[in-house]
Amino acid sequence: MRELIFLGPPGSGKGTQAARMAQIMKIPHISTGEILRDHVSRQTALGQQAKTYMDMGDLVPDQLILDMVTHRLSEPDAETGWILDGFPRNVSQAQFVQEHLLSVEQKNGRIPERDHVWVINLEVPDDVILQRLLLRGREDDREETILHRLQVYREQTAPLIEFYSSRNQLHHINGDRPMEEVTDSLKEVINS
Ligand code: AMP
Repeated sequence: MRELIFLGPPGSGKGTQAARMAQIMKIPHISTGEILRDHVSRQTALGQQAKTYMDMGDLVPDQLILDMVTHRLSEPDAETGWILDGFPRNVSQAQFVQEHLLSVEQKNGRIPERDHVWVINLEVPDDVILQRLLLRGREDDREETILHRLQVYREQTAPLIEFYSSRNQLHHINGDRPMEEVTDSLKEVINS
């Protein structure tokens, strides 16, 4: 199993880099934001519940997210590994990932030379983020919502930096560089 987790604020380039690394590593790119937007556009029960939170830039409650992620991680293409983009977003989601990894390990047994979890913190200054997101122009990319999402990130997601660095799993990468350079740094991390 090869697993890559992207932390980093909205607009840090997580989605772009996760998609590029998924191609390189030949494992699926799992974006909880994308799965949720798909539910919203299909107007499923989950989509209808999630939409209010997404429009405000708040996190969708864990009880809605965790089943969705469990289901996605149990699909056959996720058997050899996965890239998580936008999940975990708070400490209880991170604990969920640890438990999931533990249960996979107990089922399959780990091969230390082959198995690895990398957690990437993509670092980008706030002013660059704001500019990038205003240019992107997604429905939840209005200035007020962006600022709120940054606040939610600082309060709920940034604590994961400590969570993973205390487990020696964290790699900091400067995301304020051209896309190819960031990907090169990511390749160095997974090949080292
Ligand atoms: P993203 O595409 O990752 O920026 O996510 C867009 C929106 O989806 C977020 O602002 C949240 O409302 C919601 N969302 C995505 N991932 C999660 C998650 N792991 N936990 C809670 N809400 C999420």
